[in-house]
Amino acid sequence: MISGNPERQRLLATLPSVDELLKSSEGAAWLAHCQRRLVVQAVREAIAGAREEILSLNFSGFTRASLIQDIDRQILKKASFSLRHVINATGIVLHTNLGRSVLSERMLQNVAAVSSGYSNLEYDLEAGERGKRYVHTKNLIRDITGAEDAFIVNNNAAAVLLCLNTLARNRQVIVSRGELVEIGGSFRVPDVMTASSAQLCEVGTTNKTHLHDYCNAVTDQTALLLKVHQSNYRITGFTKDVPVAALVDTGKRLGLPVMYDLGSGCLIDLRAYGIHSEPSVKEIVSAGVDLVTFSGDKLLGGPQGGIIVGKKKYIEQIQKNPLARALRVDKMTIAAFESVFMSYLDEKSAVSEIPVLRMLLQSPDKIRGRAVKLANRLRKYIKQEQFEIVKDNSKAGGGSLPEIEFPTYAVSIKPVHISVNELERRLRAGTPPIIARIKGSVLLLDARTITDREVEVIASAIAASFYPV
Ligand SMILES: *Cc1c(COP(=O)(O)O)cnc(C)c1O
Repeated sequence: MISGNPERQRLLATLPSVDELLKSSEGAAWLAHCQRRLVVQAVREAIAGAREEILSLNFSGFTRASLIQDIDRQILKKASFSLRHVINATGIVLHTNLGRSVLSERMLQNVAAVSSGYSNLEYDLEAGERGKRYVHTKNLIRDITGAEDAFIVNNNAAAVLLCLNTLARNRQVIVSRGELVEIGGSFRVPDVMTASSAQLCEVGTTNKTHLHDYCNAVTDQTALLLKVHQSNYRITGFTKDVPVAALVDTGKRLGLPVMYDLGSGCLIDLRAYGIHSEPSVKEIVSAGVDLVTFSGDKLLGGPQGGIIVGKKKYIEQIQKNPLARALRVDKMTIAAFESVFMSYLDEKSAVSEIPVLRMLLQSPDKIRGRAVKLANRLRKYIKQEQFEIVKDNSKAGGGSLPEIEFPTYAVSIKPVHISVNELERRLRAGTPPIIARIKGSVLLLDARTITDREVEVIASAIAASFYPV
């Protein structure tokens, strides 16, 4: 019926062919700048799109110019990387969807230095023979955490899987019910347990677990006592969990190893910065825990990775597990880790060099300064009544320090001629995309996670969103 419409038939007949478009002056320009294969794909898709449009019920007109514009857009999209830099204006420092931790200059320089040529990744330069990739970071981790030995795998989920599979395959692992957490993105303690071939033995109740709950559950099938950091949630009120030290005592008495999945794993003592909820890895190690696992890209502020520290005899068994080879890390990861651990040798340099720590621990005054800078820039472009500086709270994110509110400053934008949702969408669609948070009827740009360099980019993107050309 519709295709029978003579006007539409006429328009369909005017649609240029792929060949015609490639030979046109626009086609020559596309081919001069982009790969042929990509241009041809874009042209094909745009023509197909135009055909569909002409045949659709709510068709409203078609021009050659709109087709060309469509091809321009498609080519630009195809020629751009899918994974790219975005500006994080959410204030969430460890935003898992936005790549979690930001790497420092120092880390990146080392990654480039090591990976742009050959390296001694698995070559012992002194002996002139095959070496191990784990030696490059082991001593640094031992020094920083006080552990006997250390091992790095692809992420903390892999670290937990590998430890359970090595120590408790086909045997039981005792865990408190209150710690059977789901971290998000499909890490659930019971599921990882199953995948590792260990058997879960849950003890206690959701809100209370006592030491005798662990003791009563021990049988000759028990291989491990496991403690899991609750990460992204807290049970409050009538609660009890067993302190690490008591679990370690019990493990010693019964001849069972104790493992602690710390999740975030902080390498400095945050109490010096007024944060009292998160013991450092060093403290957990010195409490006598046999194996501790934590992420490389949460509070540590390094690349994605899972770090296992603890007693030498267990780490040696873990390294020999065939799964260790499947979960091993690349040279880029090791280069970034070696560099970030070097920063940790001096706490002052760690706090100033590692972006995650710098963003979390920067003073509210400093953040306010950046918000003021952004507001000053905005004043050049948009009317005063459409924005203001507001006090707010940011979150650490990534399941880290969930109960801590970090006082922050944000620029709050209230557009008058477009909706706040439309402003959010336009900023997200820009280059670079800017990710911000809607709160009620305003858009909040948290100055904690934006850099000084990004201030002008954000201001002009907002101006462009307000007054698109
Ligand atoms: C985040 C987290 C994990 C998963 O770590 P990844 O590095 O994301 O794999 C595991 N356990 C706990 C307690 C966590 O907080």
